[in-house]
Parts: sequence; structure tokens; C-alpha cells
Amino acid sequence: MIECSGFNKVSLVDWPGRIAATVFLRRCNFRCPWCQNPELVESSLFDTPVPVDDILHYLRRRRAMLDGLVVTGGEPTLSRYLTLFLTRVKEIGVPVKLDTNGSHPELVCGLLDERLVDVIAVDYKVPLRLYGDLVGFKNPECVAATIAAVLRRRCGYVRTTIVPGLHTEELLAEMVKAFPELNQTNYRLQGFRPGNCLDPAYNSLPPIAPEVIDHLARRIVKSDSHPVHQLDSCPDGPVRRNGHQRLTHYVLHTHQSSTARDT
Ligand code: SF4
Repeated sequence: MIECSGFNKVSLVDWPGRIAATVFLRRCNFRCPWCQNPELVESSLFDTPVPVDDILHYLRRRRAMLDGLVVTGGEPTLSRYLTLFLTRVKEIGVPVKLDTNGSHPELVCGLLDERLVDVIAVDYKVPLRLYGDLVGFKNPECVAATIAAVLRRRCGYVRTTIVPGLHTEELLAEMVKAFPELNQTNYRLQGFRPGNCLDPAYNSLPPIAPEVIDHLARRIVKSDSHPVHQLDSCPDGPVRRNGHQRLTHYVLHTHQSSTARDT
């Protein structure tokens, strides 16, 4: 079964607008230096796995009070048992949000086709040309395919963590230009925050002020009349540890109930 390194029984922030449980799957095929969950990425830091049967048992018992389950990581699509696990979850009747770095578009599309996930949050780290150098992933076309699928199917949203000194307005403009479908409802910016970064050097960077995120969002996504709403508070997905140290997600949007079903 899946190797789960953490389980939050109740979260009000991992799936904005919903009361959700969160499972954290270990392993990742990226190495984002600003990653806030190194204990899910570096095998030397892995904890004892949480028994999957315990998670399923909890979901059965608490089905009535839960609005959903967030499956995050690490990178969940690396788990060869992900489909089986989600099948079990769906048998219980729990909606699922999947967080992914976008490296496995065919798997993500298959999960959507089989209705094993309801919402996808896909990370868009940097311009595709920089994936190899900055996050250590040599197949950015896979990320592009996942982003395109999520946008085409209107089944979730794209998000970028703003890292100081890296995500300039020019860089973000380049990223947005690559996906003209990105708009006020399906693209979210979230602020980097130091403290537990995969590369400790990043801990010396300053956090991003909400006003800066607001400014960037308004500049790169064409709109000057819609409010910025704080929706979430975690970096590239939920933070497994130090849950009190939350980042801030923002989205410019016009309708709470439009394409992003989690809002
Ligand atoms: S931020 Fe996400 S994709 Fe990047 S290394 Fe961490 S878990 Fe992997």
C-alpha cells in the first residue's frame, strides 16, 4: 500500500472552504530548494509510515464530518499504490483533492477519468526552461501537459510559490505567457516562507509580504478591479510539520463557485 508519512485528521486550510483530512505521501522526484517538507523528500528523514488501514478506518468513522481528503506529498503520483488507495477512499464516499508537481500527466488524467479525484492542484514552479536547473526535473513537458489538462478540464487550479529574488515580475510574466488560459480563478500565487527549507540556505531569505503577492498577482493576471482573497496557507501544498508556520495563498477571482471547486 501507499507509504504515508503523515496524516492530519482535520484541516481547515489544506482544502480551502472545506473541512478535510490530509495524507502526506513520501518521496519526490523534484528537488525544489525552497521545499518546506524535506522530511517527505529526503529518505534519510522519513518517519515511520502511518498505517493506511488506520487512515481508511478514520475516514469511515468521520465520513459525516469531513468534506474531503487532501492527498499531498512529497509527490503522490510516485506511489504505485495511489490508484488502489484512492479507490478505497472513494468507496467510503470521500471527495479527494490531489496535490501534484505535474510530473505524471497520464496518471493524473487517468485518475480524473476514473473519477478517483475531484480537484487537482498542480504546481507551476518556474518557467519550463528552468525546471532542470532549478528543481532538478528534466522533463518539463510533463508538467506542461498536466497544467494544460487541468486548465482544459477545469478540474482545479495552478499555483506558484513566490520565492524572493527568483520570481520577479518578468519571470512570472513569462510563466503566464506560456499558458494563456491562466486567469483569475485558476491561478494562485503563494508566498515563500523560510524556516524548514530543503536547502537550508533558503532559510535566510525573507518571507514575502502579502502586499507583494497582491501586487504581483494584479500585475501578471489582467485585472485591476477584483479583490484578492486569502485562500490557503501552505507552500507547494500542505506543510506536514510545524503546522503553525503557514504560508499564504492568494487568488484573484470573480466567483467563489466557478471553476475552482475548492473555493
Ligand atoms: S516543493 Fe513539492 S515538488 Fe518540490 S521538492 Fe518539495 S515536495 Fe517535491
